[in-house]
Amino acid sequence: MFSNNHVNQKSYLNTLLVEDNPGDAFLIKELLKFNSSLDFNVIHCNRLSLAIKQLNEEKIDLVLLDLGLPDSQGCETISQMIEMAPNIPIIVLTGKHDDDFSVEVVQKGAQDYLVKSEISAELLIRSIRYSLERIQLVQKLQDREQELSCFNKKLADEVRERTYELKEQNEKLQHLLKISNTDGLTGIPNRYCWETVLERDWQKSIRESQPISLIMIDIDFFKLFNDTYGHPEGDICLKKVAQVIQKTLKRPTDLVARYGGEEFVVVLPSTEKSGAMYIAESIRSGVNSLKIIHEASKVDEYITISLGLATTIPTINSHADELISQADKALYLAKEEGRNCVRSLTYNID
Ligand code: GH3
Ligand code: MG
Ligand code: MG
Ligand code: MG
Repeated sequence: MFSNNHVNQKSYLNTLLVEDNPGDAFLIKELLKFNSSLDFNVIHCNRLSLAIKQLNEEKIDLVLLDLGLPDSQGCETISQMIEMAPNIPIIVLTGKHDDDFSVEVVQKGAQDYLVKSEISAELLIRSIRYSLERIQLVQKLQDREQELSCFNKKLADEVRERTYELKEQNEKLQHLLKISNTDGLTGIPNRYCWETVLERDWQKSIRESQPISLIMIDIDFFKLFNDTYGHPEGDICLKKVAQVIQKTLKRPTDLVARYGGEEFVVVLPSTEKSGAMYIAESIRSGVNSLKIIHEASKVDEYITISLGLATTIPTINSHADELISQADKALYLAKEEGRNCVRSLTYNID
C-alpha cells in the first residue's frame, strides 16, 4: 500500500496534509519530523479540490485532514475524501473538541480524530501507526473475502457441472436399463425382465405360502397369418395382442412379457387357479374382440390365442422352471383340444 510498508521499519510515507491554516500546517509538519522510524514526504494542500487533484496524480499513503476548509466544511469534507480515497487511511485534525462529532467522523470512515490543540508528536505518530496497521488488516480481510468468494463460486460451478454430468449419466443408465428390460417390437417387458420378476415372486410365494399362477399364451396359426398378410402385418398383430394382455392385467404385481416369437407369458403372484382362469379367459375373449381377420386360420375367421395355465403353492425345494413347464404342458393341451381355449394344470396343492 505504501512504499516499504512495514511500519516497524524506516518507511517512506507520502502524506497528504489538507490544512488551510498555515500555522497549523507548519506545526503538523514539524511534529512529523520528530519521528525516527517513519519518514514522511508531506504534500500540503489548503483546499479540498487541490487535495483531490493530488490524490489523482500522486500515490498517497496517508491523509491528514482538517475538516474546515475554504471549499468544504465538516462531514462533507470527510465524505468526499473517502469517496476519492476509500483505501487510504484518513486522520481527521480539528480545532474543536466534540465527542459526538468524533464518533460520526469515525463512522464515516476516518481512522482517527485528533484535536489540534492536544496533538503531540507522540500522539500523532501513534495515531498514524495504528491507522496504517488497521487499514492493512482491513485490506487483508478484504483480500481474504475476495479469495473466499472466488473459491465459493468455483466450488459452486464445479458442483453444478458434476451434478449435471451425474444427472446425464443417470439418465443414460436409466434408458439402458429400460431398453435391456423391454421387448423392442411390442414395448412390453422382455423374457429376461420377466424371469427376474418371476424369481422374486417365486421366493415371496415360498415365504408367504401363497399360490402363484402362470399363463403361457400362443397365437394360433400365426405362421399362416404371416404367410397370408405378410410379416409387417404380423408385427402389428403382435403389438395389438400384447396391448390386450397388458390391459387385462389389473394388479400392479401382475406381469406380462413377450416370451419369444408369437408367445407371451404372464405371472400372477398371490393368485389361485380360479382367479387366474378368469384372467386367462378375459385375455382370450379380449383377443377375439380385436377381430383381426385371419382367413387362413382353421378355428375362426379372426385371430385367436391358446392359453396354458398352471398354479402352485411353491415350497422350499420346488423350482419356478417346473411351473413354466406345467404351463407349457397346459398350452399344448389347449392346442391339442382345438385352440382358442384355456387349459390348466395344478400341482402341489392339497
Ligand atoms: P400354432 O397354432 O400351432 O401355434 O401355429 P403357429 O403357426 O402359430 O406356430 P409356429 O410355431 O409354426 O409359427 C409361429 C410363427 O410366428 C412363425 C413365425 O414366423 C412367427 N413369428 C415369430 N416371431 C415373429 C415376429 O416377431 N413377427 C412376426 N410377424 N411373426 C413372428
Ligand atoms: Mg481549517
Ligand atoms: Mg409358438
Ligand atoms: Mg402359434
